[in-house]
Amino acid sequence: ARSMTTDIQIARAAHKLPITDIAAKLGLAEDNILRYGPDKAKISHQTLDGLASRPRGNLVLVTAINPTPAGEGKTTTTVGLGDALNRIGKRATVCIREASLGPNFGMKGGAAGGGHAQIVPMEEMNLHFTGDFHAITAAHNLLAAMIDNHIYWGNDLDIDTRRITWRRVMDMNDRALRDIVLGLGGVSNGFVRQTGFDITVASEVMAILCLSRDLDDLHARLGRIVVAYTRDRRPVTARDLKADGAMTVLLRDALQPNLVQTLENNPALVHGGPFANIAHGCNSVIATDAALRLSDYVVTEAGFGADLGAEKFLDIKCRLAGLSPAAAVLVATVRALKMNGGVAKDNLGTEDVDAVRRGCANLGRHIENLRSFGVPLVVAVNHFHGDTSAEIAALQDYCSRHGVTAILCQHWAKGGAGAEDLARHVVTLVEKGQADFHTLYPDSMPLWQKIETICTRIHRAAHVEALPGIRAQLETWEAEGYGHLPVCIAKTQYSFSTDPDLRGAPEGHVIPVREVRLNAGAGFVVAICGQIMTMPGLPRHPAAETIGLNDLGQIEGLF
Ligand code: ADP
Ligand code: MG
Repeated sequence: ARSMTTDIQIARAAHKLPITDIAAKLGLAEDNILRYGPDKAKISHQTLDGLASRPRGNLVLVTAINPTPAGEGKTTTTVGLGDALNRIGKRATVCIREASLGPNFGMKGGAAGGGHAQIVPMEEMNLHFTGDFHAITAAHNLLAAMIDNHIYWGNDLDIDTRRITWRRVMDMNDRALRDIVLGLGGVSNGFVRQTGFDITVASEVMAILCLSRDLDDLHARLGRIVVAYTRDRRPVTARDLKADGAMTVLLRDALQPNLVQTLENNPALVHGGPFANIAHGCNSVIATDAALRLSDYVVTEAGFGADLGAEKFLDIKCRLAGLSPAAAVLVATVRALKMNGGVAKDNLGTEDVDAVRRGCANLGRHIENLRSFGVPLVVAVNHFHGDTSAEIAALQDYCSRHGVTAILCQHWAKGGAGAEDLARHVVTLVEKGQADFHTLYPDSMPLWQKIETICTRIHRAAHVEALPGIRAQLETWEAEGYGHLPVCIAKTQYSFSTDPDLRGAPEGHVIPVREVRLNAGAGFVVAICGQIMTMPGLPRHPAAETIGLNDLGQIEGLF
């Protein structure tokens, strides 16, 4: 027999409990959940409504240094820490995002964690799961269809067909759909115009689902979506098109968080999955809030490195949902630090203590940044086979000189048992009660100043540049009543700067703001700094070429 090495082999060998047993660990009875087969369920709206008066447990954010192709392991660490907290006697729940379907068929790799720290059933979580993303796709495209239909039937709202900002979406990597012309084929097919597709996770509907408190809030946010402008430049909303009610209907079931389990049979809420560049990149407010009211500890992940992911988690999600993290875990790997220290990907197998030391400059920046939010933190060293003790010592030495504990974690190899030291330290941090969370900027700060504040204080730019027209656009939105919104910076996740190849801790750089977008429904303004991909493509040999069912009917080639 083959040894159990791959993520999928480990996941297949899991001893799953019936989902009702997992619900029971959260104090939920069978009639509190809606079952989707033996190992998946949704927590019902009715149950969620009943939780509002309960106190919240402690929120722990898992974030990381800037990502490199060497891998950091935020999701893996989130799951490992959740299991470890349960092992040391805390009632802990893991909250992560659902997976986007398209990328699975491009490059190998799922979103359920890895090694012995995974969520199951992992194949389903990485594929159709409970259909949430299909519902989001449908709601988004219903609105798109209603725009073109409105124009077809006479355009009473006077929509300027050159100023329609609402595109279409689907959950597949398909570069051929990035720019399209629709309405070809004659009078009965409507008016010809240029538009395109984004991937579903880039939809504002995804961000809205993830930031809504309940069905009423979802309905109101959907209504506020700005889809186009009129000839005299007034915004046209989904409510103007009377699409908000039907969109809410399509999303009713999807708004209920999904309950599954870790390999060690602890509860995990997997819900929502907004892009971490064009949107805020964390799981839903509803899931996080429900988990907090049902457990003592909630461990959740924010996408990309801490400069993008944690900043948005704190300044967008926590601000809008009134959440306040009790501690943060900053994940680092020796391999990624070596890459940040200038080592090429092919040479990561060789010990290089000096490169680790150089790469620590990147870690140091994130430590300072997280401290500036008033969140106590610990560094989790996600151990990879081949890390040497001298390299780990260099990393721990750097951290102790900067007043942070760095804990070696082996959850990937050993499951929760490998992260018990981390769990104990997190509990100590939380119980000391030193968190003094505050957002980076107040709601009242003008939009341009918010952009400057994030880019200079977090991304450490010397200067922020606006392309012509941008500041005037921001002032128009302020005059229209959108000035209180937080800002979502869209830039490369690989560097503090806008140059993805500039690793480590660059400074003195200029961040250019090329474009700004209003997400009035989700409730943030996006500042696009650099090239941002909203519809990925497939590689020359996509994983899809080797995916199939084996003789046992099991999925092969996905992970
Ligand atoms: P992130 O959430 O930061 O994107 P993941 O936790 O999803 O990262 O991990 C990315 C990949 O790296 C997964 O395939 C996972 O199995 C692998 N991985 C994570 N930690 C380790 C480790 N310590 N050793 C080997 N592989 C790991
Ligand atoms: Mg992840």
